[in-house]
Amino acid sequence: MKIIPALIAAVLIAAPAAAAPPQSALGDAAEARALLMDSVGFASVQERGQTPALARFYRDWLVARGFAASDFAIDEMAGTAMLHFTWKAARPKAAPMALTGHLDVVEAKAADWVRDPFKASAADGYIFGRGVMDNKFDVAMMLATLAQLKANGFQPRRDIHLFLSGDEETDGVTSAAQAKQAKALGIEFMLNSDGGGGALDAAGKAFAYKLQASEKSYADFTLTITDPGGHSSTPGPSNAIARLGLVAARIAGHRWPAQVDEITRASLAAAGAARNDALGAAMRRFAEDPTDPAAIATLRANPGTIGQIGTTCVPTMITGGHAPNALPQRATLTVNCRIFPGTAIAAVQAELARIAEDPGVSFGTGIDWPVTPPSPLRSDVVDAVAAAVKTRGTTVQPTPGMDAGATDSVFWRALGIPSYGVSGLFIRAEDAFAHGLNERVPEAAIAPALKHWEVLLRRLAG
Ligand SMILES: [Zn+2]
Repeated sequence: MKIIPALIAAVLIAAPAAAAPPQSALGDAAEARALLMDSVGFASVQERGQTPALARFYRDWLVARGFAASDFAIDEMAGTAMLHFTWKAARPKAAPMALTGHLDVVEAKAADWVRDPFKASAADGYIFGRGVMDNKFDVAMMLATLAQLKANGFQPRRDIHLFLSGDEETDGVTSAAQAKQAKALGIEFMLNSDGGGGALDAAGKAFAYKLQASEKSYADFTLTITDPGGHSSTPGPSNAIARLGLVAARIAGHRWPAQVDEITRASLAAAGAARNDALGAAMRRFAEDPTDPAAIATLRANPGTIGQIGTTCVPTMITGGHAPNALPQRATLTVNCRIFPGTAIAAVQAELARIAEDPGVSFGTGIDWPVTPPSPLRSDVVDAVAAAVKTRGTTVQPTPGMDAGATDSVFWRALGIPSYGVSGLFIRAEDAFAHGLNERVPEAAIAPALKHWEVLLRRLAG
């Protein structure tokens, strides 16, 4: 579930000029491009059953480039699959590190797309296809970088574990299982390809990079009102649909308390410093004083920043009634919450119950993901990411940030493994269509992304 980071997208401004993107020192962008295009051809949507085939394809691709088949494990579960590969250090000098990404993609209805979503196509400088950005781009770049490092004789000084989950976009069962494996293996830290990343301005110049060190949790609640119902010609004082409609309106209108932590304070201060308008001023004021009511109001009013200053909950689905001529016996509202780090899910449910102002509401829970604290900013990771970003010929410094969505990292952080979103993709906000129609990545993003992953691996495992 990625990105482009909402905060970065909210601060689109003109920025310092950057040099032309570098070619990968290792060369072969064409091979990485072919890998990316081939991987889009697997419709690795949960219900379509092609995720295991994609896992085998990636394994075979790496084995064909010299890695041992015995260092791969593919586990099929819950209709999907997860892949684990270990590049063992001959003589490890440090605890193991991990790279992560996900195999699965969000469903795409071919009829709504201009091109077949599950056959990659190239046009106008872009590659189109479902998952070509989220997350197959960075997965292909990581795999291609591993292969190219091996071809160049690279010897890791610590074990490098690659974990690709199979249901990050839906249930997170494989994500949770892999986090447990990683904990048992003593993984010291994890780099998640499905978080963070760079922003380009309208002219294609880099102006920001988010090092994702924190993310919100995710929870779905169902609120149900039941009623005896009856003949529609004899209405009484209670109507389940009308009552639930009022509940939905109260939840949609609720102002959740403003919250801040070290990560969001730093990212808002940096984003605010980069712009000269009312939104930028509000970011700076909030970073200084997170109780400033005017700053809070401005940030709440902007969809790009509301998620950065606290929990949000919105009604997303509603069902009710059973016949056009009967009083409804049941109405159900789904409420989706994005929960600020450190806030308990039970506290959010209690607040929803209070806001609902209807004691007849019964609560059910759907998917809920762990609530986790931000990862501590390790200087080795921060320095490596800064070096990777610098290869773009930009003066942009990575800024630690929080994603308002959630990725595999929440399961890892829940087990105490520091996790960082460090995508190698720089993209313009107007080119980012993850989860949406006509998902695309610029062809020009490939070579610098290979360089990005090469620098990260050489600095952290070389
Ligand atoms: Zn994703």
